[in-house]
Amino acid sequence: MIRYFVVPRHPGHHIFQVSVSLTGVAGEQLWRLPAWIPGSYMIRDFARHILNVTAEVEGHSLAITKLDKDTWKTASTEGTVTLHMEVHAHDNSVREAFLDNRYAFFNGTSLFLCPVGHEGSPCEVDVLPPGGGLATNWKLATGLTAKQVTTNGFGSFKAANYDELIDHPVLMGELKETCFEVMSTPHRVVLNGPYQVDTHRFCRDLKAICETHAALFDDQLPMDSYSFLTMVTANGYGGLEHRNSSALVCARRSLPRRNEAPSVLRDDYRTLLGLFSHEYFHSWNIKRIKPAAFSPYDLSKENYTELLWAFEGITSYYDDLALVRSGVIGVESYLELLGQTLTRVARGHGRFRQTVTASSFDAWTRFYKQDASAPNAIVSYYSKGAWIALALDLTLRKLSAGKQSLDDVMRLLWQRYGKTATGVAEQGIQQACEEVAGQNLDSFFNRALYATEDIDLTPLLASVGINLFWRSASNHADKGGKPGQATLDLGALIAADPAGVKLRVLYEQGSAMKAGLSVGDVLLAIDGHRVELNSLDEVLAMFTPGDRVPVHVFRDGELIKHTLVLQPGEPDFAWLDIENGELSEAGRHWLHIG
Ligand code: ZN
Repeated sequence: MIRYFVVPRHPGHHIFQVSVSLTGVAGEQLWRLPAWIPGSYMIRDFARHILNVTAEVEGHSLAITKLDKDTWKTASTEGTVTLHMEVHAHDNSVREAFLDNRYAFFNGTSLFLCPVGHEGSPCEVDVLPPGGGLATNWKLATGLTAKQVTTNGFGSFKAANYDELIDHPVLMGELKETCFEVMSTPHRVVLNGPYQVDTHRFCRDLKAICETHAALFDDQLPMDSYSFLTMVTANGYGGLEHRNSSALVCARRSLPRRNEAPSVLRDDYRTLLGLFSHEYFHSWNIKRIKPAAFSPYDLSKENYTELLWAFEGITSYYDDLALVRSGVIGVESYLELLGQTLTRVARGHGRFRQTVTASSFDAWTRFYKQDASAPNAIVSYYSKGAWIALALDLTLRKLSAGKQSLDDVMRLLWQRYGKTATGVAEQGIQQACEEVAGQNLDSFFNRALYATEDIDLTPLLASVGINLFWRSASNHADKGGKPGQATLDLGALIAADPAGVKLRVLYEQGSAMKAGLSVGDVLLAIDGHRVELNSLDEVLAMFTPGDRVPVHVFRDGELIKHTLVLQPGEPDFAWLDIENGELSEAGRHWLHIG
């Protein structure tokens, strides 16, 4: 038995006090913290946040030695060995741990040393509220199995093994909890902070989305309960999937407001619903249907697989698809989202340099460690994976005259791999697709996965009555998804800067990069006209295609002048519409309309 003990000891100093005890020790014992957290494929070395470690055996101090960046060894002894440590927690993402006077969040991967060799042993964990009268109104929420807890949720919890223990993040603070049911299974949305949120609307929309995912998998839920553990922050955005919960971080403004008309569906709320939908779909696709390479995870080093395009890309396809299938958004709204996804892929010429399988394999050092070259050097296995999933779905529908689809592939994967806890081999996704299609799909998969050419979506979308169009950028904030009038374009993503606008991303096909401008440059003036975020489009509108104009930037504190040749951007912005204004039968079947 392994027992853990957690106290948010010094919220103002962001310090958790953590202990771990192992009974029946006989000899030396190794203790190790994971180097990464499943779902986020980067070595993060969580042990660097451990401030100190001491050891004792039944009240007597015990020698402990650090062996490497995340492994300790206690001296030879017999009995119950306990380690005590302080852990600094000030990462307000979903991947690590956070503690301040307002709320606390942790993943077990950040706090819980595992006694090596005892990965399969049952664990218990006690979590206490912060002391000092600070937080009498704090509550605790987690998907861990409660053993004995107070009405506020603090107390003891249990897990069958270490893998289960670290797959249950914990949120504490002034929590607001709203419940709903999906297939008679309790679900809850937990939000921290005293914010005015239309929780009724939020839960109604989430329930419809969750039911749509459950229906895809034959109305079977793979968990007894589900918690959306949500940290509400100023500007945060992100999620991480777990077996019966997800950890989410969102911006306050993205939540539905109480005074908002139900007919209004703001873009940021729609994006938020897509995020929740994404993490929930992972309950099947990655938490249970998972690559053989992750079965089991080796949390000490990189685990390589070429399949992230399927686990993240197919999930990215179904996250928005479930919004329209559930009726939470309309068809036009869905087509806008799809156009934005295709635009994100098409703007980056990195897709001509890296395949999605290579992107999956190198996630650890490339996708998760992006630099200025990223859009021109790598492809996202999320968005290009969603493009491939769409192409695959429409191909299967076309080949079978609408009788088979990617939905059938997902059900087959669930039956074969998810339900039986069998890892998916690297060729397993293609094999499942071929089984559903009843034919060899080498030509599709070779082009989609092992080559960098675009899969042409135009004829596939036409087969479900959808037109796909490509156009140039219509303004500097254009995301695609809608028709628009082409304008002169820098081919850059920009941000406000006190002196002008900062170039965040430069696309190699854009006029800014061709002019010699660089990521990080602060653009001051075009042809002597001052440039600011809200005036850039007006300044550009003064010129005609082919104009050569001087452009001034600050680079590393130096004023530099370049010559910019102004052109409309490449036609890499997608938008879609319904052919003849009315969805075809195949289209209605695809989107579950009517
Ligand atoms: Zn994901």
